[in-house]
This record gives sequence, structure tokens and C-alpha cells, in this order.
Amino acid sequence: VRDGGAAARELIARREAVFAEVQEYYFEEPPAIVRGWRELLVDADGRVYLDALNNVTSIGHAHPRLVEAVTEQWQLLNTNSRFNYPAVVEYAERLASLVPDPLDTVFLVNSGSEAVDLALRLARAATGRRDVLAVREAYHGWTDLSDAVSTSVADNPGALASRPDWVHTVDAPNPFRGRHRGAEASRYAGDAVAEIERLAAAGTPPGAFIAETYYGNAGGIALPDGYLAAMYEAVRRHGGVAVADEVQVGYGRLGEWFWGFEQQGVVPDVVAVAKAIGNGHPLGAVITTKEVAAAYRSQGYFFSSAGGSPVSSVVGSTVLDVIREEGLQENAREVGGYFRERLAELGERHPLVGAVHGSGFYLGLEFVRDRDRFEPATEETAAICERLLELGVIVQPTGDHQNVLKIKPPMCLGREGVDAFVAAVDRVLTTGW
Ligand code: PMP
Repeated sequence: VRDGGAAARELIARREAVFAEVQEYYFEEPPAIVRGWRELLVDADGRVYLDALNNVTSIGHAHPRLVEAVTEQWQLLNTNSRFNYPAVVEYAERLASLVPDPLDTVFLVNSGSEAVDLALRLARAATGRRDVLAVREAYHGWTDLSDAVSTSVADNPGALASRPDWVHTVDAPNPFRGRHRGAEASRYAGDAVAEIERLAAAGTPPGAFIAETYYGNAGGIALPDGYLAAMYEAVRRHGGVAVADEVQVGYGRLGEWFWGFEQQGVVPDVVAVAKAIGNGHPLGAVITTKEVAAAYRSQGYFFSSAGGSPVSSVVGSTVLDVIREEGLQENAREVGGYFRERLAELGERHPLVGAVHGSGFYLGLEFVRDRDRFEPATEETAAICERLLELGVIVQPTGDHQNVLKIKPPMCLGREGVDAFVAAVDRVLTTGW
């Protein structure tokens, strides 16, 4: 059995003494992580782990090109975006070029929570309405507005009972569990559209509908075909705007699609991005139309001291260069496809595997106690994660039942990393946890 090590235990004791208690940490006895390289993490004892958790680290840990670009920019200049410098213009141009028309206008912030918060503010300004429709089992951030639409009971057990009265929710459109399963999953859209109609009839049509475009928080689950098209049409018909949270699933990780909304064949009015775009550097963005952005002017100017700073902008552009030049989206498609196949094979041999979700390098391995009733194997999943850590694999559960291994490694992962991951899970499922 792995011993977290004296150094790791001492660090945790110091951490618990000074960190606010609500700030959790991974694992019961977490190792002290001191460095990262590509998809690997190394602890203070020199032990190496496969990092299947860090979707934020999109291009890999300690990427030399990013280190060099950031060092050079820090030596030259770092200031705020009220100054006129090339890096911010170049990065904003590149972000705008990644999205379809009519999205053409960029705001730069420092995190996903800020991006979602600003996206909802833009929706309010554009529609003059406060009511928002959100999907259950979602996490969108910790600021007042992004938290208001966060409905995941895994992140906040009291979430559904404590949302403000202007937040309305619809079912998580999960084809594997919930009200409509399998071929019936298309009914989620009908129910959700009916909720929009009900809100409109009650005089409170939503000014915004916000959803992850591929259900990341629920375990990497594709939304039912046509779901976003139906929702976007209904919300717009009643004068609202469609807000896409691409913070986890966007930016090439899905392999087949750069953005989750492409998988659904829709174009949102406002897109919130973060995490992967900075490879761990605090960077977030909102991309919208000139019209929506202009409405926000009625509320004053927008300014973020570090959002779009020269260093942040160079980080953003370098991450994009690496994704393109190293073919990381393509890698997510190819190696992620292989990963999914290998996980499906595990399902043939281990009854605990209820389903394999996801696309590219956003995969979900769902554990259930029995395949008929789909009873979530919550405790088993937690124990499996602890055992996987002992075997040198870092992964964590997600979803309201905490029974889905959320697999979202740095996008440089190769087939040998997939094989190592699958061998470790196979061993745990075979020998016990
Ligand atoms: N949206 C989604 C879908 C997220 O997963 C997260 C973070 N887990 C956020 C927003 C908030 O991002 P951040 O932690 O950068 O504030």
C-alpha cells in the first residue's frame, strides 16, 4: 500500500492549518507533487504518475515553448489592456477566427467563473431580463452569477434548493439515467422547450439559456441529437440568448470537434472559454457578437486588470500555436478513439463498467452495481481512484452520483499512456479495490 510519505503528510498538515476548509484536495493521502512533464506528474519521492485529470493542462505540463514565450514576454512587458500593444490584438484576432459568424467580438478575463459571469451579464444587458434557464447537474463557477446557475449536487448538496428565484432548471439530458433513456432521450428537448414556453406564458421568459455544449460535468456525455438546436430556437423565439459554456469541453479536446457546439450543429450567441486556453495560466474569454457586446456598454466600460495582459495574451497565442503545430486536436481524435475502444473492451470483461461516454480526450467511464437498474457504484468509484493512485494513475470521479471516472488528460497523451491507464484499471477491477 502506498504511503503518501512523510513530506506529503507534513505538507497536508500545514495546508489544513492555513487553507479555508471548504477548499478540498484530491485523495485521502495525496502525494506531494513537485513537477510535471507532458502527461506525467512527479512527486517529492521521484514517483511518476500518469495524469488523466488535467484538462486545464491542454498542451501538457511544462511545455518548453510556453515556458520560453512567457519568460520572454515577462522580460519585455506586462501591463493591462488599456494600453495599446500587439499581443492582445493578435490573440483576440485569433480567438475570433476560431468561431463561426456572427461571433466576432472578444472579452478577455482570468478564469472560467469570470467568463460565465460576464456571459450572463452580457445576456442580461442584451435582453433586459434577469431570468436564466440552466441545466441540472451543471457546474459553471463560483462567482455570484456563475454559482447561481451551478446546479450540481456533487459540488453543492443544497444546490437545487438554494438557487435564486430567477434561476430555472431543466433535467440533465442524460440518455443513460434519468427520466428518458436510450432512444427516448430525444424527449428531453421537448420537456425543456415546454419549460421555456411555460416561463414565457408566466411572464418570465429566460433572458439566457446556459449549458455545457457536451455534458462535461455529468461525465462527458454527448447531449441528445438536436437538443441544443431545439433549445436555442425556443429561447431566441422568446427574445433570449444562447450561452455556451465551453470551459471544459471546448478547444479541441473532443477530437472530432474544436467546440462542443459544433457537435450539436448550432452557433451560440455568447461563448465562455477558459481552462485549456491558458494551459493552467489564469486566462478566460467570452466571445460574442458586436450587437450583444454593444448592449453591455449601457452598463459602463469593461476592464480587467490582468485579463488580456501581454503575458496572458502570449500564453493564449502560444497554446494555440502548439495545439495546431503538434496536431493535438487530431491526436485527441485518434488516440482518444483508441482510448474509447480500449475502455469498451474493459466493459466486456468487467460488469462494474456500465457505460463508456465521451469523445476524444473527454471520456467518462461509468461504474454501476448492475446494468439493468444502472445503480451508481459511488463508493466503489472512490475506492478505485484511491487504488489507481497507488498504481500511479491520477483520475477522479464526476457527476451527481460521483460514479463516473472523468478522463481528460493533457492532449499530448499517446497510445502507450492509454495502455498504461487501461492496464491499471483492468488490474484494479480484476484484483479488487
Ligand atoms: N464552467 C465549467 C463547465 C467548469 O467546469 C468550470 C470549472 N470546473 C468553470 C466553468 C469555472 O472555471 P474556473 O474554475 O476557471 O473559474
